[in-house]
Amino acid sequence: MNVRDSEAVESMLVAAGHEKAAGEEDAELVIVNSCTVRQKAEEKAVGKAGNLIAAKKITGLMGCAVKRLGEDVFKKLPKLDFAVGPRAIGLIPKIVADGRFPRLELGEDMMSEALAAHVNGGFQAFVTVLVGCDNRCSYCIVPDVRGHEYSRPAREIVAEVRALASHGVREVCLLGQSVLRYGKRNTAWDERDAPSPGGYTEAFPRLLEAISAIPGIARIRFTSAHPKGCTDELLRAYREFPQVCRHLHLPVQSGSDRVLAEMGRHYTREEYLAAVRKLRDFDPEFAITTDVIVGYPGESEADFEETRSLMEEAGFDNSFVFKYSPRPGTRSAALPDDVPTAEKERRDQVLLADQERRGQLRNDALVGTVRVVLVEGPSKRNKSRWSGRDSGNRIVVWDDPSGVSAKAGDMVRVAITEAHPQILIGKIC
Ligand code: SAH
Ligand code: SF4
Repeated sequence: MNVRDSEAVESMLVAAGHEKAAGEEDAELVIVNSCTVRQKAEEKAVGKAGNLIAAKKITGLMGCAVKRLGEDVFKKLPKLDFAVGPRAIGLIPKIVADGRFPRLELGEDMMSEALAAHVNGGFQAFVTVLVGCDNRCSYCIVPDVRGHEYSRPAREIVAEVRALASHGVREVCLLGQSVLRYGKRNTAWDERDAPSPGGYTEAFPRLLEAISAIPGIARIRFTSAHPKGCTDELLRAYREFPQVCRHLHLPVQSGSDRVLAEMGRHYTREEYLAAVRKLRDFDPEFAITTDVIVGYPGESEADFEETRSLMEEAGFDNSFVFKYSPRPGTRSAALPDDVPTAEKERRDQVLLADQERRGQLRNDALVGTVRVVLVEGPSKRNKSRWSGRDSGNRIVVWDDPSGVSAKAGDMVRVAITEAHPQILIGKIC
């Protein structure tokens, strides 16, 4: 989501006549986009802004940490030029043009004009379909900093994707904190929209149908999902639209019913696993990835083992493990942060080792298969190799020292010969 917001700001500044610098050293103005979902993330962003100020750049800070800190951002960074909350980023070109610093814009509940601003050039694009969140999970600061849940009108989104496709975009990733809730809080479709040709009644599957009909869009991804959104209509959309990728990022957070209830996640372990089974019954190769928090207040060894066993049962293709950190103003911040740091670290390492082993096994099963891959470009680590992703978002790598067999944005078929926990290696066929 932050990558998307930064892209929007870049696009608006270029449209206002600014030029993109080759790198940080060449820039006159640098804007740091901040995340505050964990304490460490915020510290990193504020530290980075401090370094830029010391290097005498015009420095702006945008994003969630600004919203959380408010006026206090200038206590942490007295020489900061401007600070802009996540829902006020549309004001940045004007703030820069005015040049009246210091300046703070929190945006309150104003919708940003930035939603549709894109940088031309790539073949992949993020598209925000739902902003904010009303879920209020006990540990999470997102609702405080990103504001209330709001679904953008479907017509606006479809027009945006059409424009992206006309500029060469082949893959879109639809963004929302709980993206399957699209159209639940406010109406996304209205009477001026044509009825769904497929008869879809749920707003999100209907959006997938509409985007699938846009020429040029070969792939549609979306993130993040909640198991409640894994409805029969969503499954039908997966079945009917080959553009919809067979990967779901389905954060589970914990495998313990007691912890899930405390977190206010609104599902049980069994309900979560039922959603996983539904996706895998439909397609055994369906890739499912997740987020997990270790060391939530009161998380016992038994709770942790429940998380481990759930991860094994779900057979996650990849997982992101986060060590709990209390965020000011959230419900769980009032509870003692009682799992020692060393124990959080141990649990983190245990889950990572489990995932390595599981990732290897899941990928081993794909050796001998052919993956349809959207080419991204030369691999970062080894320039004689190229890389891309399959429908399941798995990284696929192949040898092509002269880079002749495909170019970025192409769709190729790769026969898999070798598997690693996080990548598949093969040959173009
Ligand atoms: N909207 C998404 C999650 C967005 S936050 C969802 O509900 O699925 C991204 C991830 O950060 C979360 O999935 C969670 O694992 C992690 N996270 C959020 N708050 C945290 C905290 N206080 N401490 C540690 N990790 C946290
Ligand atoms: Fe945070 Fe929960 Fe909303 Fe995700 S659903 S952003 S974890 S409050």
